[in-house]
Amino acid sequence: MKTITPTSRRASRTNKPILTPARDGHGNGARSARPAVSAGLAKWLAKPKRNLVGGDWVEAASGRTFEVFNPADGSVIDHAPDSKKEDIHRAVTAARKAFEEGPWRRMTPSERGKLVWRVGDLILRHADQLAELESLDNGKPRSVARVADVPLAADLFHYMAGWATKIEGNTIPISVPYAPGARFHAFTAREPIGVVGQIIPWNFPLLMAAWKLGPALAAGNCVVLKPAEQTPLSALRLGELLLEAGLPEGVVNIVTGFGETAGAALAAHEDVDKVAFTGSTEVGKLIVRAAAGNLKKVSLELGGKSPNVVFKDTENLATAIDGAANAIFFNHGQCCCAGSRLLVEQDVFDEVVAGVAERAKQIKLGPGLDSDTQMGPMVSEEQLRRVTRYMNQGKQSGACFFTGGGRAGDSGYFVQPTVVTDVKPKMSIVREEIFGPVLVAEKFSDLEDVIPRANQTPYGLAAGVWTRDLAKAHRVAEALRAGTVWINCYNIFDAALPFGGYKQSGWGREMGHEVLELYTQTKAVVIGLG
Ligand code: ADP
Repeated sequence: MKTITPTSRRASRTNKPILTPARDGHGNGARSARPAVSAGLAKWLAKPKRNLVGGDWVEAASGRTFEVFNPADGSVIDHAPDSKKEDIHRAVTAARKAFEEGPWRRMTPSERGKLVWRVGDLILRHADQLAELESLDNGKPRSVARVADVPLAADLFHYMAGWATKIEGNTIPISVPYAPGARFHAFTAREPIGVVGQIIPWNFPLLMAAWKLGPALAAGNCVVLKPAEQTPLSALRLGELLLEAGLPEGVVNIVTGFGETAGAALAAHEDVDKVAFTGSTEVGKLIVRAAAGNLKKVSLELGGKSPNVVFKDTENLATAIDGAANAIFFNHGQCCCAGSRLLVEQDVFDEVVAGVAERAKQIKLGPGLDSDTQMGPMVSEEQLRRVTRYMNQGKQSGACFFTGGGRAGDSGYFVQPTVVTDVKPKMSIVREEIFGPVLVAEKFSDLEDVIPRANQTPYGLAAGVWTRDLAKAHRVAEALRAGTVWINCYNIFDAALPFGGYKQSGWGREMGHEVLELYTQTKAVVIGLG
C-alpha cells in the first residue's frame, strides 16, 4: 500500500464526501446513519487518550493529538496522541529499563505464562465492548469482530501463555578437534531478544496487537507497540487490560502516531533490538532500511495477491463459489491474504464467476455497528480513494466489470463488492495489491497452465485450491510458492498455525511455535570440565 506524508494523510481526512456518488446499480448501496454506541463504550470514548509509557498514561511530548474517524460516516469519534521521535524515545527508554532492571526478567516462566494467559481471559471478559470498539474504529461488522477478531486475539494469548514454560535449549555433544583429551559440557539457552518495536496495521487492529504481543511476552521481551493511525483505539484499550492483568510497568508501552513519524522513529531507534512489522510490502522495505542503522533484527508480514484456484472437479461447485467469495470479500478485502486472483478451469469459469458475482450483489453494506451489516466501509478515505483508483485504472485498460466497480453511496467510505473479468497480466488490478473487495477472475486450461500463472506475482503469502483429486491437491500445494495453502477452504487461521510469506510477502512466521524463533536468540554456553 502506498505511503503518504502525514500532512497529506491528515489533509485528506474530512467529514465531507470526497468523491462523486458512484453509479449504484446493484442494490448494495450503503447506509450510513450514525450508530449509537453502548453507554460503557461512550464513557470510555469520552476519556482523553494517552500513550502507555512505563506504566503511566501520558500525553505526547508536543501535547498534540490527531483525529480518529468513524469510517461509516467520516465523523470524528476520538483523538489519540500524535507521537513523534521524542515519545518513541521515552517509550524505548521505559522498555529498556523494564528489560534490564524490572521484575520481568526475574519472573519464572510459569509466572510470566500466567500473566499472558490472564490477558486472554480479560479480552474474553470484555469481548462485547472490544468488538463494538473495533467495529466503530475500523468499520468491520461488529458481529464479525465478536466471533473472529476478539476470540482469536484471546486465543493467541492463551496459546502463547503455554509456550512461556516450554522455550528450551539443547545439550550439545562437542568434539573440539584442536583440544585433544579436553572435556566440555556445552548447552544452548534461548533468551529474549530485548526491546522489541512492533508496528501494526489497521485491518485487524486488536488481533494484530495480539499476534505481536503474545509471543514477544511469552519469550520475555519488552515492547513498544505502535498501532496504525487509522485504528489506534483497541490497542489503547488492550493497554488497560495488560495493566489490569498485572504486567509490570514498562513491559508493554503503546505509542500512537503516524507511520512516517512515530513508526519511522521506532524502526530506526538505536536502542531497539528488533522490529516486527505487519503492513504493506512498500513500507516493509522502508522498515528494513531504517533498521540497518543498528542492524536490529527484523520480521515482516507483508502484502499479497493470492491466487485461489478452482478446478472443475471440485467436490461441490457451490462450496467453492462460497469459498471464493469469502476469500476476497471477508473483512472487505482488507486482508493481506485475500484471495484476490480467482483462477478457474475454463469449463466451469462462467458458472463460478456468475456465482461469485451473485454473492457479491447480495452482500449487505452498512455501518459495522448495524446488526444486519455484512460488509462495512473501507477503513479510511485514503483507502476508498486507493480502491476506486484501481477500479478506474481497470476500466481504462479495458477490463470487464462483471459486477460492482465503484463507490457505494455518497457518505462513508463504502465500495461495491466487485468482480472483474477479461483482464491482462499487465494490468495493475491483476498485479498489485488493492486491499479492497475487488476480485480479478481468469480462466485456465489445466494444471500445467495454472501453476506458473498462480506463481506469477512478487508476493507469496497465501493460496487456495479447490479440487476433490487428492493427488492434484498435493501437487498444486507443493508447487505454489506461498506461505499458506488452503485446500477446499480459505481464511482458516489458528494460533497454532504458522503464517507468513514467501518472496516479497515477508520474513519469518507469525503464530505457532515458529514465531518464537523471532522473539528469542540462542546463546551457546561451553563449560570446560578439565
Ligand atoms: P497503509 O498504507 O494501509 O496505511 P502501511 O503499511 O502504510 O499500510 O501501514 C502499516 C503500519 O505501518 C501502520 O502502523 C503505519 O503507521 C506504519 N507505517 C507507515 N509508514 C511507515 C514508515 N515509513 N515507517 C514505519 N512505519 C510506518
